[in-house]
Amino acid sequence: MELTELKGIGKNTAEKLSQLGIDGVMDLLFHLPLRYEDKTKITPIEDLIGFSYAQIEGEIVKSYVTQGRRPILVCEVDDGTEVMQLKFFNFYYSQKIKMSSGLRIRAYGEVRHGMYGMEIIHPEFSLGEKQPALAKSLTPIYPKSEGISQKLLQKATAQVVELLRKGGFDLQELLPADWLVKHQMPTLFDALLFVHQPPPDADVSKLLDQTHPAQQRLKIEEILAHFLAMHQARSAVEQLYAEALPIKDTQRKKLLARLPFQLTDAQNRVVTEIHEDMARNHPMQRLVQGDVGSGKTVVAALAMQAALSHGKQSVMMAPTEILAEQHLITLKEYFPDENLVFLSGKAKGLHRAEILGQIAKEARIIIGTHALFQADVEYHDLALVIIDEQHRFGVHQRLKLKQKGQTDHNMPHNLIMTATPIPRTLAQIAYANLDISVIDELPPNRKVINTLLLDNQKMPQLADRIRHACERGEQAYWVCTLIEESEHLRAKAAEDTFVALKEWFPDMEIGLIHGRLKSEEKQLIMNRFKANEIQLLIATTVIEVGVDVPNASLMVIENAERLGLSQLHQLRGRVGRGNRQSHCVLMYQSPLTENAQIRLQTMRETNDGFKIAQQDLKLRGPGEILGTRQKGSMEFRFSNPEQDAQLFEQAKIMAKELLKNQPGICKKIILRWQKQAKELAKV
Ligand code: ADP
Ligand code: MG
Repeated sequence: MELTELKGIGKNTAEKLSQLGIDGVMDLLFHLPLRYEDKTKITPIEDLIGFSYAQIEGEIVKSYVTQGRRPILVCEVDDGTEVMQLKFFNFYYSQKIKMSSGLRIRAYGEVRHGMYGMEIIHPEFSLGEKQPALAKSLTPIYPKSEGISQKLLQKATAQVVELLRKGGFDLQELLPADWLVKHQMPTLFDALLFVHQPPPDADVSKLLDQTHPAQQRLKIEEILAHFLAMHQARSAVEQLYAEALPIKDTQRKKLLARLPFQLTDAQNRVVTEIHEDMARNHPMQRLVQGDVGSGKTVVAALAMQAALSHGKQSVMMAPTEILAEQHLITLKEYFPDENLVFLSGKAKGLHRAEILGQIAKEARIIIGTHALFQADVEYHDLALVIIDEQHRFGVHQRLKLKQKGQTDHNMPHNLIMTATPIPRTLAQIAYANLDISVIDELPPNRKVINTLLLDNQKMPQLADRIRHACERGEQAYWVCTLIEESEHLRAKAAEDTFVALKEWFPDMEIGLIHGRLKSEEKQLIMNRFKANEIQLLIATTVIEVGVDVPNASLMVIENAERLGLSQLHQLRGRVGRGNRQSHCVLMYQSPLTENAQIRLQTMRETNDGFKIAQQDLKLRGPGEILGTRQKGSMEFRFSNPEQDAQLFEQAKIMAKELLKNQPGICKKIILRWQKQAKELAKV
């Protein structure tokens, strides 16, 4: 059945859905809710603290538009328990008129603690005395992409689920029946019905935590598909050839002599592992894990040196433009005699054509963003592909770059680097197709970052701290952390803070950076921050990865209690890079949940990424999945390697058994879950 046969889906929408990987009705069935919205109740405003998302209802007591560069429509709502603000950054004046005082409003959205108490930014809302009845069951929220509304996905999926209910699909149960019985898990059929339309009496808290048996049933099959595909991919690569690139000791020493430091033992060990791989004529498939600041860039450079010594091309890809440019600067120092070529989305027209010409000919060291794997980028004799901060790339992007320089029998060596502090055991599960090296040591003389916790109420104390740091010539980051999925709203919230902080520090140079800026604008701001022309940088989490400004010694993170440990650790890693004593202030809203308390305490007590990762794993229990970024966790649509560790263990065992006893089923499982399975099988 075609998607366009569903009500409400025309040709255009079908095309957009296809960008989400949904090409048919069956795909829609496996496009599972990421989370649920609980619109079955109204929360009194006075009880909002501790909620991430909530629905409120009350009377509009005041609505006004703030003055400033970008006006904000503020609507104050009183529900008899307390007053809160709803804020709209994009609004029509007609909307302002509609929001007149005395009217009843019901609003749903992400609750945050703003500068002036509780607020919801851009809530969904309905106005009027007569509000619709509360929802009877949880509302599924699907992963979506540009141009597809949540409502559309909900409506389309509801139709497909109806079809399923009526027996419209030939849905083969692939998991062994005795296994389902033993683990008391529902069949695929029942599980799918359940997750798309949880009945009114469903165990809400389990569903929200994604620990409901119906969800687990689906997850385990997805995980199984992952292991099986990994296995397939690994055996496929083992068949391929790569040019052997043994490095001579003189070549290695040549680069080492240019460094202003000595490699740590850990760096040396990992470099040796890489060079051993590259000396073989099978493609290297190595993941280097190293905590923030452990010095991965130089390790990558030494791998490039091996390729270079054979006159071969290497390419290094970073997930953000900011980071790629930074690598360019660093690598220029390491390879002063080479003509380094840089390609990002910024390059256009003739300039781009010229760069592509160099890549197709003599360039031997190439650096850039995902622009590097666009179809028309042709490499000359690509021998090494390095992907930095790989967790930031989707599996498709990675595959595309891998396929560059690849023929039916040949493939470049592959080096994948990540700072995601995931415990080794877990990494082995998630990267079952890769060899793993760990840089488990930081360069000497690093000063431990001093981390403080500060209640939002004491925010004024911060002003002095920031001022003093900047007067001493140091610099600071202020990170705004709206966990809202929309980059747009995150940017707006940062702008809001920017305006407020300008009032605090009228004579300081303050910058603002977020994902909605053009890349030149971002680069300009980063350059000015690097040059110490900006003293205080207000940023969204765009600065999370890789950024290296050693003079920045103070970081303030707003609403830190909302973030997961790994993300906090990554963010904090932006300071403590020079030889000054650095500080990180984690702002929070009390009262804290017990879980949040442990997280913040962990951050205060340790700077060790692996310890933090262990703790993270322990903590990701109930309630934590809401609001954590799906992006951060591998390439799963539904499962979360950190949260579902136990399912991973189970799936690993099951995968072994299936591979041995039922290879036919294995293929079916892979195909059902991994659209990229075919591509994976090719690498
Ligand atoms: P990562 O990418 O692992 O977060 P980087 O490669 O950006 O870390 O290195 C962080 C900083 O440490 C850089 O300024 C780098 O020059 C420096 N560095 C790397 N290795 C060493 C070392 N062995 N000794 C001293 N400094 C080092
Ligand atoms: Mg790095």
